Amino acid sequence: MPGTLRIKLQTLHHMFEPAESAYTVLLLLQKRINLGNICLPDPEAHKMTASQAFEEANVGYVAQYNLGHLPIQPSRMVVIVTCMDARLDPARILGLAEGDAIVIRNAGGRVAEEMRSLIMTQQLLGVREIVVIHHTDCGVTKFTNDVVHSRVHEALHQDISDMDFMTFSDIDASIKDDVSFLRKSPLVSTGTLINGYNYNVSTGQISLVVSITT
Ligand SMILES: [Zn+2]
Repeated sequence: MPGTLRIKLQTLHHMFEPAESAYTVLLLLQKRINLGNICLPDPEAHKMTASQAFEEANVGYVAQYNLGHLPIQPSRMVVIVTCMDARLDPARILGLAEGDAIVIRNAGGRVAEEMRSLIMTQQLLGVREIVVIHHTDCGVTKFTNDVVHSRVHEALHQDISDMDFMTFSDIDASIKDDVSFLRKSPLVSTGTLINGYNYNVSTGQISLVVSITT
């Protein structure tokens, strides 16, 4: 169409991440340069589900991927148990690359829930160092078992009153509890170094709370 600049968001994916950034740039162009006839795509029409965005992002990842040679055994011989919180990226917090460490995540980063995986890392992969990381502002500190039990009962009409959601209120205490749980467990190999850290989501800093060797 004469006098009309048509720009597809898809063509800008290589320049801007995520797609919303490209859209923002187009909005700025329209506003600042007064290009009233730029045809902006309808943001709703281009809204992808998270999974669709993943599939698209993966195409770029595959194009530059060169880690197919890595062995299953982690190079630093360490397993990290931490929270599933979306703000925590263990690789960035701890300076890890692919193949460096095994990372197990769940709500709160509670170790009692992960014995199956911990046993496998120790007995099948030979890992002898465990790092436990809980963090400030953790969602697990914001409710109790009773709250979850009643919510599930109301929403799903299920009785899960015997399910422990391992909530806690004192982060350092929960770290000590989990390290103590591992120290006492007959399923953790003798000679395992276990360090418990508190991660501050406001500053990005980890602080050592407890360190023991079994
Ligand atoms: Zn958390």
